[in-house]
Amino acid sequence: MAIRVNPGFIDVLDKFGRENIQLCYQCGDCSAVCPHADEFYKFPRKPIRQLQMGLEKKIETTLEPWLCYYCGDCSDLCPRNADPGATMMILRRYLSSVYDWTGLSRKFYTSYKWELGAITIIGLMITLLFSVFNPNGIVTSLTPEGGVKVNEMFPVETVNTGAHIMLITIAGFLISNIIRMWYFTILKDKTLKISFSSYVIQFRQLIIHFATQVRFSKCKDKKYWGFHWILMSGYTLMFILIVGNLKWFQTDKIYLWYHPQRLLGYYSTFGLLLGLVYFFYGRIKKADQIFKLSHLSDWIFIVLLLFTTVSGILLHIFRIEGMPVATYYTYIIHMAVLVPMLCVEVPFSKWSHLAYRPFAIYFSELKKSALSIRNREKLFLKHN
Ligand code: SF4
Ligand code: SF4
Repeated sequence: MAIRVNPGFIDVLDKFGRENIQLCYQCGDCSAVCPHADEFYKFPRKPIRQLQMGLEKKIETTLEPWLCYYCGDCSDLCPRNADPGATMMILRRYLSSVYDWTGLSRKFYTSYKWELGAITIIGLMITLLFSVFNPNGIVTSLTPEGGVKVNEMFPVETVNTGAHIMLITIAGFLISNIIRMWYFTILKDKTLKISFSSYVIQFRQLIIHFATQVRFSKCKDKKYWGFHWILMSGYTLMFILIVGNLKWFQTDKIYLWYHPQRLLGYYSTFGLLLGLVYFFYGRIKKADQIFKLSHLSDWIFIVLLLFTTVSGILLHIFRIEGMPVATYYTYIIHMAVLVPMLCVEVPFSKWSHLAYRPFAIYFSELKKSALSIRNREKLFLKHN
C-alpha cells in the first residue's frame, strides 16, 4: 500500500503549539525513560519519527499521544532539548481536531479569537436570557423583603430543562467525536480483528482509567496525579450536581452545613480550588517541565474554571447571608461563565482530553490483545 507523505505537516502542527521535533535525532532515550511506553506503544520516539517523515495519515490512526500523561521525564532527559513531552501534548490537540467533525476544535485550538469569541457570544446570550428575557427582570419585588428566592427568580424547572438540552447537545458532539476516534484508530486498520467479547472484557479499562487516572502513578512526580485527580473529581461532581441534578442542588431552602447537598458542593469547590492553585502556580512559575509551555487553551480553561468557582463561592455566601440582589447578579455571572465553559471546553477544547484519554487506553488494550493473538498465530505457523 502506498504511503502518503505530507512534507508540510510540521507546519500544520505548529499551529497547535510550538514544537522542536526537527532537533530530534532519534536516539530513543525518551522512549526508554517513558514509564508508559512498552513493546507495542513505543512513544514518544515513534510518533516523532512519523512527524518528521510527514506521515499525516499514520499519525491520525495513532493512540500513543493519548497514552502520554505529560510527566515531562522524557523532555528532561532529551539530549537535543527537542521536548518530546510537549510534542505529545501538541499531537493530542491535533488529534482532537481530527476526531471533531464540526471543525470547531481545530478553530479553537489554532485561533484564540475563535475560542474567546465563542465563549463571549455564548456568555452574552446567557446573560440576556437570564436578565433581559427573564420575565421577573433582574431585581424584583421579591427583594429585599422576600429574602433570597433563586428558584422564583430563575425558575428551576426552566433552568433544568435548559441544562438537559445542553447536556444532550454536548454529549452528542462528544460521543460522535469518540466514534470517529474509534474509526480512525481501530476500524481503519483492516488487519485488526477484535472480537465482541474483547470489547466487553476490556470495557473495565475505560471505567477504571476515567475514574482513577491511575496510570499517572507511574510518573516520577506523584503529586501531579493527585492534583489532577482532585481537580477532575471536583469538576465532574459539579457537572453532575448542576447539569444532572439541578432540582436537588438549586433549592431556596438553606440546609445545615452537614446536609449532603452542601457537603458535596463543598467537596467539589475544595477540589476545584486546590487543583486550580496548583495549576496556576505551576504555569506561572514554570519550574516543572510540564508547565514550561502553556498554550492559550490551557490558560482559557483554568481561567474559566477559576471564574466559575469563585462566582459559585460568592453565590453561596450571598445566598446564606440573605442578600437577594447580590445573589441574583452573581447567579447570572456564574451562569454566563459556566455555560460557555461547558459548551466550548467539554466537546471541543481542553476538557475533551478527559474523555479521549480513557477511550484511548480502552482502544489501546483492544489493539494490544488483537496484536498479541496475531503474533502468536504467526509464531505458531512459523513453527508448524
Ligand atoms: S530523546 Fe530527544 S533526540 Fe532522542 S529520540 Fe527522544 S526526542 Fe529525539
Ligand atoms: S511526557 Fe512522560 S508520559 Fe509523556 S512521553 Fe514523555 S515520559 Fe512518557
